[in-house]
Amino acid sequence: MANAYDVVVIGAGTGGYVAAIRAAQLGLKVAVVEKQKSLGGTCLIWGCIPTKALLEHAHAFKVIQNAKEWGVTIGAGTPAIDMGQVHARKDKVVTGLTKGIEFLFKKNKIDWIKGTARLAGKGQIEVVDGEKQTLQAKEIVIATGSSPRSVPGIEIDHTRIITSDEAIHLKAVPKSLVIMGSGAVGVEFASIFRRFGSEVTIIELMPRLVPVEDEAVSAELEKSFKKQGITSLTGTRVTKAVASAKGVAIEAQTPDGKTQKISADILLVATGRGPVTAGLGAEALGITMEKGYIKVDTMYRTSVPNISAIGDVITIDGPHPQLAHVSSAEGVLVAERIAGKTVQPLNYRHVPGCTYCDPEIGSVGLTEAQARQQGYDVQVGAFPFGVLGRAKMAGETDGFVKIVVDKKYDEVLGVHMIGPRSTELVAEAVLALRLECTAEELIRTIHAHPTFSEAVAEAAHATHGAAIHM
Ligand SMILES: Cc1cc2nc3c(=O)[nH]c(=O)nc-3n(C[C@H](O)[C@H](O)[C@H](O)COP(=O)(O)OP(=O)(O)OC[C@H]3O[C@@H](n4cnc5c(N)ncnc54)[C@H](O)[C@@H]3O)c2cc1C
Repeated sequence: MANAYDVVVIGAGTGGYVAAIRAAQLGLKVAVVEKQKSLGGTCLIWGCIPTKALLEHAHAFKVIQNAKEWGVTIGAGTPAIDMGQVHARKDKVVTGLTKGIEFLFKKNKIDWIKGTARLAGKGQIEVVDGEKQTLQAKEIVIATGSSPRSVPGIEIDHTRIITSDEAIHLKAVPKSLVIMGSGAVGVEFASIFRRFGSEVTIIELMPRLVPVEDEAVSAELEKSFKKQGITSLTGTRVTKAVASAKGVAIEAQTPDGKTQKISADILLVATGRGPVTAGLGAEALGITMEKGYIKVDTMYRTSVPNISAIGDVITIDGPHPQLAHVSSAEGVLVAERIAGKTVQPLNYRHVPGCTYCDPEIGSVGLTEAQARQQGYDVQVGAFPFGVLGRAKMAGETDGFVKIVVDKKYDEVLGVHMIGPRSTELVAEAVLALRLECTAEELIRTIHAHPTFSEAVAEAAHATHGAAIHM
């Protein structure tokens, strides 16, 4: 039958499209149902790619603003940001990548069925709009992802009170921007729009910025943001936000219980994302849900045989980070399991967390506080980028690398860095954790000079009280 498949994947985000490609590589007949006009999901259309493209623009602007220091003459005028060109370049990057996935689908003979999918019974998927039809599948993989959510009492109007979906398309730089939430999305937009010229205030309910990171990283980011003119209100709760034609009137409760009034052109709500399952028919089919998420086991099996789920839409025992690379790793694993390969569960303690604000953050494993809570006899070593030749050359001297080690076996438990290239440097740390490396092994690993990676080696030396350049 033309519309009968080994695997039908619902959703072509970084979870779904990767699962489809891997399944096709393993010889399975695969279709993907995707309702957007392009492939790639949140990551490519509204998330990782467009935000990081904007951050590259912000970085380029920073270098140009400091042209004199670099010995570059740019004439009398003041450098300015041209949002038209910024969006044109960002969109070109996004389109190139989404078209790339279309190419990969063709190469791997994967059918892209355009429309919205609904689970219609055992092994059946109904495409309810677009290319309407009923598909038969031996295996179904749900990869419908997530969408932005607000908090009670704060209503998104998509014009003045917006989410990251709108922030990515802002045609003009707002004079003032208040950001609710200092997770990765919040602090990345803070870096982008501060560099573009906005007055930026971040309001965070928890006592520190980027609350999932090591405390030292949070403190360093707040210090660096302050230097850049970004105001951080931590331990503060937004209690009211009223949008008007002129802007947004915001009320927030500060840690001392007082009410602070702030007005801004735009309020960006970056308080997290919720699962996309509306209209999917998952519950009707008997799939176990938890707080709206699809519950899966460590092999991504739902409670209904032959239906799996991966990515932002799932919940699993233990923390499940909503990250593109996590969804892709799950996509590979689920495809291999369906194809009959022997697979091992993913280790969520080895997931790198990357935040591309300025300065960048890269981390993996236990924070110092977590290691102590878990009863380890902890040894910590840290090394500042400011001492490093390579960082001085780049003019990027804020931040440090911090390594958390178990004193008993010298095993590396966690690596936390903030500073230049941290989102790249963290890859070494992920491998170190995966291979259960000791600090000694990191020390004996020769790091090239002059590179940013020397900060990792020096931080490892520091865990033994023996950093060379400090
Ligand atoms: C601003 C922002 C920046 C981010 N930056 C990063 C980053 O730098 N690094 C990182 O790792 N992660 C980042 N993320 C998170 C990352 O984008 C997500 O974790 C990732 O996209 C999840 O992939 P997914 O495949 O699970 O879901 P999604 O990417 O959300 O894809 C789901 C797809 O399913 C489709 N769909 C939903 N329901 C149906 C249906 N019924 N029928 C057909 N199609 C359907 C949707 O249209 C969508 O295309 C960012 C997110 C945001 C919002």
